[in-house]
Amino acid sequence: LALIIRNGTVVNAFGRCRADVRVEGERVTAIGEGTGQPGDEELDASGCHVLPGGIDPHTHIEMPAGEGGCNAGTWYSETAAAVAGGTTCVLDMITQERGATLTAALRDWQRRAQAGAVCDFGFHMGVTDPLPEVLAEMEAVAAAGVPSFKLYLAYRDRLMVADGAAFRIMRAAGALGALTLVHAENGDLIETLVAEARAAGRLAAGVHGETRPALAEGEATHRAMQLAQLAAAPIYIVHVTCREALAAVRAARQAGRPVWAEACAHHLLLTDAEYRRPGFGAAPYVLSPPLRDPEDVAALWGGLEDGALDLVATDHCPWHLAGQKERGRHDFAAIPNGAPGVEERLALLWTHGVETGRWTPEQFVARTSANAARIFRLEGKGAVLPGCDADLVVWDPAVRRSLSAATHHSAVDHSIYEGMPVAGRARFTLVRGRVVATEGKPVAEAGWGRFARRH
Ligand SMILES: [Zn+2]
Repeated sequence: LALIIRNGTVVNAFGRCRADVRVEGERVTAIGEGTGQPGDEELDASGCHVLPGGIDPHTHIEMPAGEGGCNAGTWYSETAAAVAGGTTCVLDMITQERGATLTAALRDWQRRAQAGAVCDFGFHMGVTDPLPEVLAEMEAVAAAGVPSFKLYLAYRDRLMVADGAAFRIMRAAGALGALTLVHAENGDLIETLVAEARAAGRLAAGVHGETRPALAEGEATHRAMQLAQLAAAPIYIVHVTCREALAAVRAARQAGRPVWAEACAHHLLLTDAEYRRPGFGAAPYVLSPPLRDPEDVAALWGGLEDGALDLVATDHCPWHLAGQKERGRHDFAAIPNGAPGVEERLALLWTHGVETGRWTPEQFVARTSANAARIFRLEGKGAVLPGCDADLVVWDPAVRRSLSAATHHSAVDHSIYEGMPVAGRARFTLVRGRVVATEGKPVAEAGWGRFARRH
């Protein structure tokens, strides 16, 4: 039995054409005219684009937050939100607990993700405590299908690793043919600025932004490049936000070094004006690196244009205002960092990328799906081609709507995009041949998602 997606325009990163798409089981088996047979099930894609499902290579789902708790939502709710928005695969950040093994962390994440996920999922392994025996575990982690590691140059005393440790992690990953992801902000400098602001009695949520200046990100990005060059290792900079960091990425790429980089949707769509909201009003925007000024925002769009940035992720990390962000009501440093966005990414980028004429639909596919599949070696994903996984989005560009916490599917009590108008919605989302969302509403069962093992 087959499923035919009829009358749409198939868009890949390399081109588009009017064609029907035939799906048998979990795969696309044919693209073209006359691929249907009597008895086939049909999905109507008239007026729609048929895209490879979105791949979000940077999420934090059920991220542990101490005392057995975690951030808002579950593997089920957050991946249901993802498919509602047209994303069919996420790569989630595992964090090694200090003193514990990487293997234990991987097992824990795999168990929770498998029980709840609606879309496919893979992982990056965050190394926070690079003891020799931990570095020795990296080979087994890569062999288990997680050939990418993450290190933090920020969050001193919790996640940050010193330069020597960063160098050793990069070198060990590079020797395995694995990629190292870097959160590049100068954690030591930031803690100094945070301490000074607090000592001066400046505690409102909006103060967060100025304690994490662009130069602190630029410095750490440049440093990451130098360490990676010394380690002869490929690296990927997560959430580039500013001109200083972009310059470091550009220089390394122009020198022909193996460097990749992402932007995140909120840094392309919001500015540091949000930090001028009084009191606790800026709390939803407490995320790191922070929102930047309009010139930085323009520079990020330019970086996507000229190829300095490869793709757009979300850094999806939802926290409720009530009971979670609220813990920092009287002290910005106690507000958990992060914001939701896995559901909104495609609509925001379609609206501000394609509708404005800045991007072609092909470039949209490259920056939301195909490039992530290539960089992170997600075989069979990121393209609509015979033999590929039938991870598909039937994207209806004619739908006009406003984003709101009242209608989103992420299990979090607010939206940083509240009231923003967008064009486009997923009429159907398929994960490996199964319809998991219709008209922007999830219809899938928990556990349909499968671990995307990478080599
Ligand atoms: Zn992150």
